[in-house]
Amino acid sequence: MLDRVVRELGVDWWTDGRSAAAAMNRKSFTRRLLVRPLHGRFALTEAALDAAERLLPTYRGPDGDHEGILFLLGYEIDDLTVFTAVLAPDADHGCGHVVCSREQILDASRAARANGLALLGQLHSHPHDSTYHSPGDDDLVLMPFEGMISLVAPHYARFGLRPLHSLGVHQYQDGKWVVADPAGVRSGFRIVPTAVDLR
Ligand SMILES: [Zn+2]
Repeated sequence: MLDRVVRELGVDWWTDGRSAAAAMNRKSFTRRLLVRPLHGRFALTEAALDAAERLLPTYRGPDGDHEGILFLLGYEIDDLTVFTAVLAPDADHGCGHVVCSREQILDASRAARANGLALLGQLHSHPHDSTYHSPGDDDLVLMPFEGMISLVAPHYARFGLRPLHSLGVHQYQDGKWVVADPAGVRSGFRIVPTAVDLR
């Protein structure tokens, strides 16, 4: 196993003194997915973004910071998806993982509907600087739908979530997860201001 990991990572990873465990961890956070243009248009309200920045780092335990997860709630108008709120689900979380059970996702979906919204995306945090889906993340979302968004924030989201194109923006396209091209995210994924004052 170790040999295979070292071989796949290349000699540099091994000779620079990193431990095999660190190398394996790193490998799981390497981009494996194709980069594709973002399909559709997306908007996230500033109020929801503020809430996400506050809530995501609060997934923690006595052992320290944990990965956290939020669901993005909103509605769709033609090719525009508007995320108006975030929902912090109950989840199994730790320093290197976060996962929701089917029941916890159903609870989240029910709470979204009770507020007149749909569960249309998700956002979770990673330790370190990785913003790419790790292999397990591809299955983190139960029943993903075409065009669904999955955002990954680095450093347990301790340093905020802006700008959005600095995050790992993943989209479910043609039955698989891809990484959305950051330039497309910059133009196609907007933050809706809470107030505009032209005085
Ligand atoms: Zn992850």
